[in-house]
Amino acid sequence: MLYMDLARVYKALESTTKRLEKTEILAELFRSVEGELLPAVTILMLGRVFPTWSSEELGVGIKLLMKAISTVVGVSVEEIEDEIREQGDIGLASEKLFSRKAQTTFFSKPLTVELVYSKLRALASISGERAQSRKIDILLEILSQAKPLEAKYITRTVLEELRVGVAEGIIRDAISGAFGVDPALVERAHMLTNDLGMVALVARDEGEEGLKKLNLEPGRPVKPMLAQLADSIESAVQELGRAFCETKYDGVRVQIHRKSGEILIFTRRLENITLAVPDIVEMVEEALPDTDYIFEGEIIVKIDGRPASFQYILQRVRRKYDIDRLKVEVPLSLYVFDVLYHERPLIDEPLIKRRSILESVISEIPGKVEASHMVDVGPDNVEDAVNLFNESIREGHEGIMIKDVMAPYIPGIRGKKMLKFKAEPETLDLVVVGGTYGRGKRAHLVGSYLLAARDEDTGELMTVAHVATGLDDQTLQELSDRMEELIIERKGRKLWVKPEIVLEVAYSEIVKSPEYESGYSLRFPVVKRIRDDLSPEDVDTVSRIRSIFGESE
Ligand code: AMP
Repeated sequence: MLYMDLARVYKALESTTKRLEKTEILAELFRSVEGELLPAVTILMLGRVFPTWSSEELGVGIKLLMKAISTVVGVSVEEIEDEIREQGDIGLASEKLFSRKAQTTFFSKPLTVELVYSKLRALASISGERAQSRKIDILLEILSQAKPLEAKYITRTVLEELRVGVAEGIIRDAISGAFGVDPALVERAHMLTNDLGMVALVARDEGEEGLKKLNLEPGRPVKPMLAQLADSIESAVQELGRAFCETKYDGVRVQIHRKSGEILIFTRRLENITLAVPDIVEMVEEALPDTDYIFEGEIIVKIDGRPASFQYILQRVRRKYDIDRLKVEVPLSLYVFDVLYHERPLIDEPLIKRRSILESVISEIPGKVEASHMVDVGPDNVEDAVNLFNESIREGHEGIMIKDVMAPYIPGIRGKKMLKFKAEPETLDLVVVGGTYGRGKRAHLVGSYLLAARDEDTGELMTVAHVATGLDDQTLQELSDRMEELIIERKGRKLWVKPEIVLEVAYSEIVKSPEYESGYSLRFPVVKRIRDDLSPEDVDTVSRIRSIFGESE
């Protein structure tokens, strides 16, 4: 298949904001793809070349990419920077620069999707000596044959910022439309496998029966089931009838997989952190059974027996060096609260059954690996839940979880079967898309951060607030340094960055505001913490903000 055909589809997707039109364009594309190429095309439509949870990274930054473009089109890196500034985006800038070059070049071989896909994947496998120059060689191989429109989307794919307004939900609808299969089955298959390429292939070749057979598998992370906020402990228990109430530990949620003897640890954003937490691997080898499994739990840091602040744990989860020292200085404890797979998939079993399996197979290591602290609550003993809440807060935890004992595990869904009740008011997780440098002595620090939420249909980020308080100077410095690396554009004191840093923000009230793209804004926003355990895909949605606004009216 010609890459130009794909580039034209990207262009068509970019030129409409209507969800239905985008879905139809994609469905037509999926129908037209032949053979085994379908998974690659599906994943390329998301602007990626590996599934979201893969630990493979292309490892090409904007500087390296500009070098490659500079060689191909024969202009200086400074000129490319100017063009990016003018166009506001690497893709548009490349299209422009390549079109100037196009007038003088003879294209010998048209690019195929197969070639672009395999070369981009090859980028991830390069490391070690001369990695940079070998990466450039690969980029040159594809870019030197690219026509302007192709260059636009190749460069954006390399930087993982496709920006054609397509999120996973639209791809799922398109798969369902293209092959006439039930959208609910597509969604289920996606939640269980997290591999839309495979889901598309199975939908096409094996239809609904094939999709039904897809299930979770140790080794492949699952989107976690999410919690809704309870209005009160009493009303939540009343509504559920019988609930397991558990301490809500304030750390990082992990999925622990064991497959053929190998243990893998993933975060809730499906990031593989096994190498960063060898102590957890050792502990679960002792505490959990020697079978294939998927358990879920929360890792926290305890110092002198008390839970330490959330920032400690971030020092651990994505760390690549100094791990032996940190293992001792920042010790981890694991609280296991669910089992999704133990010798067989368990997610369709009610919580009461899963919990009993969990308790029967875990060999607790006190203070290190334990089942989450739980009380069984019904309308007659609601006070046990209230007591658990008070005890949790006293011990330095966040609150309690209130879970329907009859509920199956529903991956990726924020439903009413698992509720949370916290001591502090609700916060929003938002991604930083820009900022403003300070003045005078603080001119080197980004003092104010422009935040965005996600539009769940298009995947696009919509601004909602500026936040300027809640961070100490050292953290401000660290954030400012990270922002420098992510700059897309800078004008005077203002800068715009690639969305990567997620902040948890408290606020007094949500108000309507034409000033921000989302149509809403936050009054008195304060940064509660940096959420390096979340990715830009995990931030709160505009519809959640709309619904909180509705609730508070
Ligand atoms: P939130 O992140 O505020 O939506 O709250 C839900 C989160 O609480 C989950 O994603 C887990 O990371 C965390 N959590 C802590 N303790 C538990 C528990 N006992 N059961 C389930 N989730 C828990």
